[in-house]
Amino acid sequence: MSSYDILIVGAGHAGAQAAIALRQNKFEGSLALLGDEPEYPYERPPLSKDYLAGEKPFERILIRPPAFWGEREIAMLAGKHVVAVDPAAHEVTTATGERIGYGTLIWATGGNPRSLVCSGHDLAGVHAIRNRADVDRLMGELATTSRVVVIGGGYIGLEAAAVLSKLGKHVTVLEALDRVLARVAGEALSRFYEAEHRSHGVDVRLGARVESIEEADGRAIGVRLADGEVLACEMVIVGIGIIPAVEPLLGAGAQGGNGVKIDAHCRTSLPDIFAVGDCALHANAFADGAEIRLESVQNANDMANAVAKTLTGTPTEYHAVPWFWSNQYDLRLQTVGLSIGHDATVSRGDPTARSFSLIYLKAGRVIALDCVNMVRDYVQGRGLVVEGKSPDPVRLADTNIVLKEL
Ligand SMILES: Cc1cc2nc3c(=O)[nH]c(=O)nc-3n(C[C@H](O)[C@H](O)[C@H](O)COP(=O)(O)OP(=O)(O)OC[C@H]3O[C@@H](n4cnc5c(N)ncnc54)[C@H](O)[C@@H]3O)c2cc1C
Repeated sequence: MSSYDILIVGAGHAGAQAAIALRQNKFEGSLALLGDEPEYPYERPPLSKDYLAGEKPFERILIRPPAFWGEREIAMLAGKHVVAVDPAAHEVTTATGERIGYGTLIWATGGNPRSLVCSGHDLAGVHAIRNRADVDRLMGELATTSRVVVIGGGYIGLEAAAVLSKLGKHVTVLEALDRVLARVAGEALSRFYEAEHRSHGVDVRLGARVESIEEADGRAIGVRLADGEVLACEMVIVGIGIIPAVEPLLGAGAQGGNGVKIDAHCRTSLPDIFAVGDCALHANAFADGAEIRLESVQNANDMANAVAKTLTGTPTEYHAVPWFWSNQYDLRLQTVGLSIGHDATVSRGDPTARSFSLIYLKAGRVIALDCVNMVRDYVQGRGLVVEGKSPDPVRLADTNIVLKEL
């Protein structure tokens, strides 16, 4: 049985960064990065952006060049899926029955795409966008696709809609709620993106209930809505969120549910097991201490960096300000802070000029900004969030006043 001082399970953003940061922080023990995908670690955001558009080859989205891992003596255990963890024996078991020992385990498994529960959910032509294989499969069908139905008006669905409409496909977006991006952004931003997509020819349907996926010869040929309408298509993309991949840890007794619960140092309730990234359920200071999971590259990297420091002798709590970005058409959205629970919104700049910011307040305090083509606001507004400033809303809205003056 092979064994490592530190074993990282999950070779995505958080796992790769944990390995990189451990070596940067002079960790000299044996270190392995195990993942169930066959590739070297790569960036996921381009999967719904320039990689999907065919504008960036796979080699350019690798997190590090292939030679890097060997040079840093990081053993890459690719194509292995962990199905069980034995905290007492300090070992994991893979789907093929292989046992691998660890001194410390870092769990960085992200999540699996939530699938539809209706009939036809597993037909050929129904796709998720979570990993390279998903997107390669989808891209392989584009030549014979003219109509696409995207189910879910979150960031990934909308980014895919933007790319595919630019590629000349007829795209329909189905959102069950009454606005797109409802879980992550304020209403004004939702309405702005809804209008943008419509102006690019995307058919955005709100309050849409999917009844089933229609089939012919084992392939999806349409989406039936609850009102009986059938939207004919050759491809369905499902972007309705993820389910954190934590069963082996919960099965071993770790606390959690919607993710695995961690403390301020990213420790799970099991001995010598940490968790980082999308799968980690943590009390977030920017959400008033509420237990949440964040799904962003920033969160994955910052949690990984904190754990690497802790494991190399500098106990470090995870305290990073959340940030995120999304590219749709020529719009670059940058978000800082968490808008959950805001009670007021200040609009700064002119949405019709396609360059503006929305500033979210809670009891007068700035808690988040959504900045569309407004890099300066994003950079300067960060300080307002970090310091919990309560500026005069009239001055906040005035674009003649730069945010750093507030
Ligand atoms: C299409 C897309 C676009 C995105 N766009 C943005 C963006 O614009 N900005 C942003 O900030 N974030 C974006 N994100 C989110 C961001 O990519 C994630 O938050 C980030 O990848 C989380 O890193 P992670 O390491 O926690 O999980 P992942 O990167 O998902 O890595 C987890 C890895 O673990 C593997 N794994 C799972 N279970 C096991 C197991 N039992 N055994 C072995 N391996 C396992 C998985 O296959 C995967 O390779 C996007 C995500 C997607 C899918």
